[in-house]
Amino acid sequence: MTEPASAIELWKRKYYDAIEELDRREQAWAHTEEVLRRAVSRLSLAADGLDDRLDEALDRLRSAIRDRADARTLEQHLERISHLLVRLDQRRAQEAALPGPAEVLLSLVDALDLEGPAARALHPLRKRLARAGREAPGELVREVAKVLARQLRAGRAEAGPVPEAKGWLARLQPRRHPRARESGPDQAAQGLLACLDRLRERGVEAPGLGALRHRLEAEPEAVEEVARSLAALWPRELSAPTGEGQAVSERFAELVERLPLPEGLRERAEAIARRLRDGALEVSAAVEQVVQLVQDLRRGIQRERQELQTFLEQLTERLDQIDTAVRESERARTESYEEGRRLGEAVRSEVRGIEDGVRTASDLGELREILQVRIEGILHHLEEHRRAEAARKQETDARMAELTRRLESLEREAATLRDQVRAERAAALTDPLTGIPNRLAWEERAAQEEARWRRFGHPLAVLVWDIDHFKHINDHYGHSAGDKVLKVVAELLAGHVRSTDFVARYGGEEFVMLAVGAGAEDVLRLAETLREAVSRCGFRYRGERVQVTVSCGIALLQAGEDLAAAFRRADAALYAAKRGGRNRCVLDGETSA
Ligand code: GH3
Ligand code: MG
Ligand code: MG
Repeated sequence: MTEPASAIELWKRKYYDAIEELDRREQAWAHTEEVLRRAVSRLSLAADGLDDRLDEALDRLRSAIRDRADARTLEQHLERISHLLVRLDQRRAQEAALPGPAEVLLSLVDALDLEGPAARALHPLRKRLARAGREAPGELVREVAKVLARQLRAGRAEAGPVPEAKGWLARLQPRRHPRARESGPDQAAQGLLACLDRLRERGVEAPGLGALRHRLEAEPEAVEEVARSLAALWPRELSAPTGEGQAVSERFAELVERLPLPEGLRERAEAIARRLRDGALEVSAAVEQVVQLVQDLRRGIQRERQELQTFLEQLTERLDQIDTAVRESERARTESYEEGRRLGEAVRSEVRGIEDGVRTASDLGELREILQVRIEGILHHLEEHRRAEAARKQETDARMAELTRRLESLEREAATLRDQVRAERAAALTDPLTGIPNRLAWEERAAQEEARWRRFGHPLAVLVWDIDHFKHINDHYGHSAGDKVLKVVAELLAGHVRSTDFVARYGGEEFVMLAVGAGAEDVLRLAETLREAVSRCGFRYRGERVQVTVSCGIALLQAGEDLAAAFRRADAALYAAKRGGRNRCVLDGETSA
C-alpha cells in the first residue's frame, strides 16, 4: 500500500512536472505559430507581381504578420487575398490565349470567305461578334451558328476559294476531308471541324468535344446542331490552363509542401500540392484550403492544450481526494486511540471494583460472585473494543484499496501522457522528408553549443551547405527526384560526421552543421570529404545518372561574436563558393579552397 504522506509529495512533484511540460509545449506552440506566420508570409510571395491590387493586399498581409496581428485579422487578410485571386483567375481565363466563342465563330466566318447574300446576312452579326470579343454571350453565338448553317444549307452561299491566312487563322483553314465537297453544308462542317481541331491542338479537352467531332465527320448535314452544341459547351467546359498560371501553381504547390505540419495535416497539404500540379485545383481554391488547414492546425493545438488542462484538473481533484483520505485515516487513528483509552479506563474501573470487593466481601461465595461479574465486564469491554477496531480496520482497508486503485490509474495516465509528449517532441524536432533534425532542433542545439563554447572555449565551426543547381534537378527530373536527392544528401552529411557534431536541414535544399573541437584546417578537410562524397555518390533517377554537387560556406566562431554572426559569415562564404563555380567549400576569410 502507498504511504499517503509520501504519495502526496510524489503527486505534487508530478503536478509541477506537468505544469513545466505545459510551459515547454506552450513554447513549442509559439514556435509552430511563428513558423506558420513565416510560411504564410513566404506563400504570399508566390503570388507577388501578378496584379497591383493583389500586391497591395499581400503587402498588407505581410505587415500584419510583422506586427503580429491576431488570428482573426490574418484570416481577414487571407480571405481578401483569396477573393482577389478568384477574380484574377477569372480574368486570366478570359485573357488566356484561347479565343472566346465569338472569336472562333468570327474567324470561322472569315475563313469561309462568304460572298453575296450569305455575307450580307452575316454582316450585322459579324459586327456584333467583333464588338463582343471574348465575352460573347451564348445567345449571340447561337444566332451566328444558326445563320451560318441556314445560309450554307440553303446552298445560297457561293463559297470562293479559302484565302491564304497566317497565324492561328491558318490553322482554321478547312482541312481536306475524305468526304469533303467544295460547297454546301460540307464546307460549314469543315469549318467547324477545323475549329474543333484547333481546340484540340490548344490542349482544350471537354467531355463533349470528341463526340461532336465524330458526329460532324459522319454527318456533315448536322452542322447546325453541332454548332449549337458547341456553343452550349462554351464557356463552361472549354478553358485551358495557361502557362503562367501553371508556374504559379507549381510554385505554390512547392511552398505548400514545405509547410511544417504534423502527420495528419501533412497528408492534406501534399494532396493540395498534388491537385495543384495536376491542374485539378485553382490557386485561389488552394489558398482557401491552406487557410482551412492552418485553422485545423490551430484547433488541433487547442484540443491538445485542452486535454492537458483536463488531465491537470483531474490530477488536482485526485490530490484533493488523497488529502481527504489521509485526514480521515488520521481521524480514525485518533478515534482508535480514544477507544483504547476508554477501554483502559473501563478495565481499570472493573479492577478497582475487584479490589473493593476483595476488601469488603464477607465470604468466599460473595467474593467469587463479585469477581465473576467484574471479569465478565472486562471481557465484554474487550469484545466491544475488538469489534470496533475490526470495523475500523475494514473501513480503512477499503478506503486505502480504493486510493491505491486511483493512484495506479493516474500513474498509467501520466505515463501515457509522458510518452505522447516525448514522441511529439521528437517529431517536432525532425524533418519529415529526410529524417534528420530540422530547423527548430538546430536552433535549440546551436544555442546549447554556443553556451558551451563560451564556457569551455573549444573551437566551434558553423557550416552552411547548399545543393548546386537544385532547381534544375527539380525542373528536369521532377520534384520526386529532387526529394530523393535531398534524402541522399542528408544521409551522406549526417552519416559522415562525428557524434558530437550536428547536422540539420535548415530549409529547402540547405543544410547546416556544427563541428565541435576542430580547428580551421580540420573543418575544411571534413567539409572537403563530405563535398567529394556527395559529388561521387553516383545518384541515379529512373536509370539516368544525375550529377549532384554541393557547395559549403564555413566560419569558426570568434571571440566577441555570437553564433548568429558566425552563421552570417558562413552564409557569405557559401555565396562566395557559388560565385567561384560551385561544388566547392570556402572558409570565411580565405578566398577559396
Ligand atoms: P544554386 O546552385 O545557386 O543554389 O541554385 P539552386 O537552383 O539550387 O538554387 P535556388 O535557390 O534557385 O533553388 C532552390 C530550389 O529548391 C527551389 C525549390 O523549388 C527547391 N526546393 C526547395 N525545397 C524543396 C523540397 O523540399 N523538395 C524539392 N523537390 N525541391 C525543393
Ligand atoms: Mg538555396
Ligand atoms: Mg541551391
